[in-house]
Amino acid sequence: MDHFVDGNALAGSLRQVFRPDITTAEARCAGCGAVRPVADFRVYTAAPGAVARCAACGQVTLQLVQSPGALWLGMSGLSYLRFPPPGR
Ligand SMILES: [Zn+2]
Repeated sequence: MDHFVDGNALAGSLRQVFRPDITTAEARCAGCGAVRPVADFRVYTAAPGAVARCAACGQVTLQLVQSPGALWLGMSGLSYLRFPPPGR
């Protein structure tokens, strides 16, 4: 669990799901309530997909898995994502 990269590693994959750059969004951790940019996530990529954890408490915030027929995104560890208004 000590080998991770930051949340910017999710930018390319999540661009397939979200039109705006999700790494600029603020995310609220469902575990501890911390509100931080997605770019602050700790992302673990030594798995079939990517697992992102809250930098404050370590809770899994989202999972992203690419299968041959689909892209799966789980976000049960987030209370919300807040995007800046368009044009910023
Ligand atoms: Zn947390």
